[in-house]
Amino acid sequence: MVVGSKLACREMMLSRSKNVGIVGAGIGGLTAAIALRQFGHDVTVFEQAKKPSEIGAGIIVGPNAVKVLRALDLGSELDRIAVEPGKHRLRNWKTGRIMFDQPMGESFRERFGAGYLQVHRADLIEILVRKLPADRVCLSSRAASVRQDSSAAALVLENGKELEFDMLVGADGIKSAVRSSLFGLESPRFTGNVCWRGTVPSEDVPQGVFSSDIHVWVGPGGHVVNYYIRGGKLMNFIAIHQADDWSAESWSFDADREELARRYADWHPALAAMFERATACSKWALFDRDPMSRWSEGRVTLLGDAAHPMLPYLAQGAAMAMEDGIVLAKLITREVDIVPALQRYEKIRLPRTTRTQLGARARAKQNHMTSPVARLMRDIGLGLRRTFRPS
Ligand code: FAD
Repeated sequence: MVVGSKLACREMMLSRSKNVGIVGAGIGGLTAAIALRQFGHDVTVFEQAKKPSEIGAGIIVGPNAVKVLRALDLGSELDRIAVEPGKHRLRNWKTGRIMFDQPMGESFRERFGAGYLQVHRADLIEILVRKLPADRVCLSSRAASVRQDSSAAALVLENGKELEFDMLVGADGIKSAVRSSLFGLESPRFTGNVCWRGTVPSEDVPQGVFSSDIHVWVGPGGHVVNYYIRGGKLMNFIAIHQADDWSAESWSFDADREELARRYADWHPALAAMFERATACSKWALFDRDPMSRWSEGRVTLLGDAAHPMLPYLAQGAAMAMEDGIVLAKLITREVDIVPALQRYEKIRLPRTTRTQLGARARAKQNHMTSPVARLMRDIGLGLRRTFRPS
């Protein structure tokens, strides 16, 4: 009897270890893979590119994402690659006047239980990839579609190979093939925003205006964000502007520096000087999608931008993807059966990611107001809030 119940217990343990296929080795897919492996699952990631990579730009890792990375035992690696700003400064686009000053660092850590960090995307991808055995990330492997029945899910690669898993996760970004396979082909929405992303070596950053803080310059029809990454060696900037359309076939290309200079000609001169000194600069169209009402089907689910792509104005897209990964891993481990676990995952995550998607759209409106009266009211409101900041 005792032996029997021990066996039953072992079987239960074994039945909890699942064979999982993940499509996409971006921040979301890699985080999910690490989390699932930590809980004892057998995971393989399929990435279309020749190597996992990210664009040469910065990314903010909010406290919620820092907590995920710490839970995955990546805290010290993260601290090694991150820069923590002293303050979050909201500035007038033309005069540079500081409208709102949010202390970060210690006060932020006390408030949220983790810091607000800035990293180079390539550095983040590198620490995630290093946490996985090389043979668990299959490169040059582009997913075409998925199929499933009641006992398994199959990933069909573009080269015709078909691989079976207990469950599949589409972490393949905003143009997700897994999402199209589950819910049909539907194009993402051009949000009416384009952005330039660039980096400037710290020795070339114009003196006198910029500091170790994160600066957000809000102006009519656009905003600019700049902060240090890579231990302070590089200044990262994102310059966002409203545009009527995006006629280029690609979503990104090397930027026309003159166009960037023209767009921001009336803005604070320190910004023009920063743009001029960028060693790398690309132009991007910003797309998103409406929130979904569900994103799982049987043994297949989505996470990150595949499920809930959003405008970057809350700096939460990657953070949401990381949260998805760890929640998914926990639920898959807790439940013996995959289908109810995926339904629960979606039920828990959907309200939060929907709020964030819609919140990011609302922030665009607040940051890009063109009416002088509306801008004045917003700036007065921000000035008043400033007196209530936590010290
Ligand atoms: P992706 O990063 O798109 O990764 C998808 C992966 O899947 C890629 O490696 C791709 O090659 C692969 N793939 C695609 N199709 C296939 C296929 N068919 N088969 C196999 N592989 C495939 N978020 C933050 O949290 N903080 C920020 O500060 C922040 N700033 C941002 C600034 C800008 C300008 C932008 C545009 C976004 C920003 N974001 C930020 C959002 C963040 O970049 C994304 O939400 C995040 O990278 C999404 O990660 P993902 O892994 O879901 O998707």
